[in-house]
Amino acid sequence: RAKQAERGSVARYNRGVSEEIRGRVNLLHNLRGAFGANELFLVFQPQVELASGRCVGAEALLRWRTSDGAMIPPDRFIPLAERSGLIVSIGEWVLRRACEEAARMAQAGHGAVRMAINVSVIQFRDPHFLGRLRAAIEDSGVSPRQIELEITESVAMGEGDRMIELFGRVKAMGLDIAIDDFGTGFSSLSQLQRMNVDRLKIDRAFINDIGGAGKGGDIAGLVCGLGDRLGIELIAEGIEQAEQAGRLQAMGCQLGQGYHFARPMPADDWRVWLAEHSWGSDAQRGW
Ligand code: C2E
Ligand code: MG
Ligand code: MG
Ligand code: MG
Repeated sequence: RAKQAERGSVARYNRGVSEEIRGRVNLLHNLRGAFGANELFLVFQPQVELASGRCVGAEALLRWRTSDGAMIPPDRFIPLAERSGLIVSIGEWVLRRACEEAARMAQAGHGAVRMAINVSVIQFRDPHFLGRLRAAIEDSGVSPRQIELEITESVAMGEGDRMIELFGRVKAMGLDIAIDDFGTGFSSLSQLQRMNVDRLKIDRAFINDIGGAGKGGDIAGLVCGLGDRLGIELIAEGIEQAEQAGRLQAMGCQLGQGYHFARPMPADDWRVWLAEHSWGSDAQRGW
């Protein structure tokens, strides 16, 4: 009896695994189609100066709306795209589309506002990456100074000297580099210094940790101290409350991004938002 029950549960387990694999294969198949059928699009989430509320940039975030209207979150499809290599062409499309949007911002008189673009490690390792990046910038006519590449901490640190060299080339083209999800990896401080990055993005988990009555925020505080010592600008992601913004500012964090300021939005809404928050006049403060 016990044997039979065990066999039953193994069978159920196997069925579960194969369903899971079938689900992923299906999703990947659909993603290839989606990419061809224009079901992928970008949304833009504002980044602001904490002291003034002035908009300093936006992060481009990828979205997939299937033909039946369902939204599939990037955390589900980007790992698949990375494993299959599809991320190289999707990532190139993201670069082109985000550069176009940044060029439009500049034409509307917002040339000092940055566009931050997430880059996957698979893209970075691709030998054609720099050429594709250069082409995206040239074809869109955007100033490279307006573009920032976001690379997650674990990736940036895991690749060693190769990454330092690549960062050097990207920076020589005039772009900025930000380390995303900072605080979750294990950065070597000497490596961080040698990488010469422009910004550290404090991971949302540590912002979340900042609660009422001055509690939490120990790690955010440490990262702020580190940024200050190394002369690297800080940006906090995932700010949801005014109090978190205030505490971060007091810790020396200059920039912020999160639902408290604005959710990621489609390009048309983003252009309107940007026009309304482009400079920090008193009338435009106060969230
Ligand atoms: P990320 O780069 O760390 O992006 C920040 C994520 O936090 C976004 O999730 C954003 O919508 C979310 N977020 C922003 N403010 C708040 C807040 O106040 N509260 C909460 N709870 N969440 C907030 P999203 O758009 O789902 O993207 C998830 C991840 O997918 C990104 O994390 C990034 O790693 C990846 N991703 C998104 N777009 C791209 C892309 O074009 N290329 C690559 N390679 N990865 C991308
Ligand atoms: Mg990011
Ligand atoms: Mg992040
Ligand atoms: Mg993240």
